[in-house]
Amino acid sequence: MIHGELRCVEVVQSYLDKIETSAHLNAYVAVYAEEALNRASQLDQKKHDPTTWGNLYGVVIGLKDVLCYEGHEVTGSSAILKNHQAIYSATAVQRLIDQDAIIIGNLNCDEFAMGSSNENSVYGNVLNALDESRVPGGSSGGSAVAVQADLCMVSLGSDTGGSVRQPADFCGILGIKPGYGRISRYGLLAYASSFDQIGLFSKNTEDLALVLSVISGVDEFDSTCSNETVPNYVSALKEEKKFKIAYFPESLEHPSLDPEIRKSIETLIIQLKSDGHTVEPVSFNYLDHIVPAYYVLTTAEASSNLSRYDGIKFGYRTPGPIEDLNALYKKTRSEGFGNEVKKRIMLGTFVLSTGYYDAYFAKAQQVRRLIVEKTDEVFSSYELIIMPTVPSTAFRFGEKSNDAIEMFLGDLYTVYANLAGIPGISIPLFKHSNGMPFGLQAMSNRLQETVLLQFSNQLLRQSD
Ligand code: GLN
Repeated sequence: MIHGELRCVEVVQSYLDKIETSAHLNAYVAVYAEEALNRASQLDQKKHDPTTWGNLYGVVIGLKDVLCYEGHEVTGSSAILKNHQAIYSATAVQRLIDQDAIIIGNLNCDEFAMGSSNENSVYGNVLNALDESRVPGGSSGGSAVAVQADLCMVSLGSDTGGSVRQPADFCGILGIKPGYGRISRYGLLAYASSFDQIGLFSKNTEDLALVLSVISGVDEFDSTCSNETVPNYVSALKEEKKFKIAYFPESLEHPSLDPEIRKSIETLIIQLKSDGHTVEPVSFNYLDHIVPAYYVLTTAEASSNLSRYDGIKFGYRTPGPIEDLNALYKKTRSEGFGNEVKKRIMLGTFVLSTGYYDAYFAKAQQVRRLIVEKTDEVFSSYELIIMPTVPSTAFRFGEKSNDAIEMFLGDLYTVYANLAGIPGISIPLFKHSNGMPFGLQAMSNRLQETVLLQFSNQLLRQSD
């Protein structure tokens, strides 16, 4: 990805020009033009001496609007945080900067990362650059389109239930969600803390591997961050392997799956077998339980995480009139949050309340436990699980926004990895007869991102 003879300033300027001509896609909510150019010219001063370069020297990166970058706005694309400036940088962001990356701007998303279409942003819709009447996916829609339309080299998003893999699928690019604990969540606005993970978008596996190596690894500011050694993802890419792959027949037989997507994956399975990989069916009986379990658990966590936005310490505060403190909270939150977020806070509060806790929250936790156990069992015999990333290709604006259940059911294949805490990737392999791309999703055992990157690299090289 390093840009040969070009100076960093020229590279940044070409991205800025492209961002300007693509402004209607609404991928960026803020562009740090002057700052990025200054940084590029500083980096150009050491161009003659590669021994002084950081691992991401001159790499131009965009950040989802849920990642803190000191001194820059971070709003979760919500009115309640409009104009809020981060007072520190997320660990992942700081590591990018320390390795000479250039942060070019802040990317649009669904409010507080809740959604699958980027229709829930206070900044408005992001358009899919391949067909502007269609959604880019969500919640990291801006991050996906920024890479899709060449408005940066790599972007960061967050994935709580598919928000990196699903928009990657809809936009025809790579999107990886590392295993839970691989990347520190310090400085990531929390949605559902036991599910949230920073993820990455790119058009090639080398860039994913390189940036992932830089931002991963133990962090004293996040106790859930793994202290396992970060593998050398870049050198691992060179290895050619035969994989042991499982697939769940239930995932391909599901009535919501587009028949063309099903056919493509079935054909790929035959191809993989003839290439010498082991590909076997493994029965998975929980498919219809994973979306409900996901929405009970994540809304419960969200209702707690979002209680901090109350108009007192930071963000929006209602102009009044205010009778008492409770009225201040109520008005601020009623005015500041959008409908999707309000709905989820109420749902989460409900499933945690006395009398309902055991029926919903505790039950969903039990389902999660069963899913984790089943996952361990599968990975005791296989290295990978493959399935579709999404049951359909990118849909049109408005097509699902009035039907919450249908929108939620679109997360059928992605929420599994977050419930189990395993890594997942969407690999852009296919094109539908409607002209839209779609991906193959691959998942590996806990913190085994290397396997995903190797597998993706092999498949993409073959499809070139
Ligand atoms: N679409 C899912 C949701 O709405 C996933 C969101 C995410 O991964 N942040 O919750």
